[in-house]
Amino acid sequence: MRSIDFSVQREMLMLPLSGKPGPCPRCGGALQQTYATYLIATRRGKQMTDSMMSGGDFGWFCLNCPTLVINENEVNNTLGIAGGRWDIGTDFTVLGIVNLGAIPESKKHIPLGDDGNPIPLVEFTNYRAAQRRGGKARKKSKKHRRK
Ligand SMILES: [Zn+2]
Repeated sequence: MRSIDFSVQREMLMLPLSGKPGPCPRCGGALQQTYATYLIATRRGKQMTDSMMSGGDFGWFCLNCPTLVINENEVNNTLGIAGGRWDIGTDFTVLGIVNLGAIPESKKHIPLGDDGNPIPLVEFTNYRAAQRRGGKARKKSKKHRRK
């Protein structure tokens, strides 16, 4: 297992996989399944319903180029499990990777997403291009806070 640098901006491909994805669709390099934390926005039609951080091993990182293949089926499963707590809407977008390693030690006592400790989101290059700013992932829900 190679360690993955989560601070690298990647192009994300969402594919409904059953089993392993095979080689990288862009360069043919090896993909490595790696656990990461993602920021996922859910929506119903054009309405953003919620956003959440979710850790999972549904991402396959190319070891050769900045590409990430996400297993859409696995994300669906994860959202289904979380469905009791979140307004998951009818659709979702994975906005980027939360680079937990970028949080300074001094901020670790502050809840992630609160003032003074913004979510260290590494957005996907293709997502940003597709959204043309406008839909910046901003924490707007109190649901992020735990009691
Ligand atoms: Zn590749």
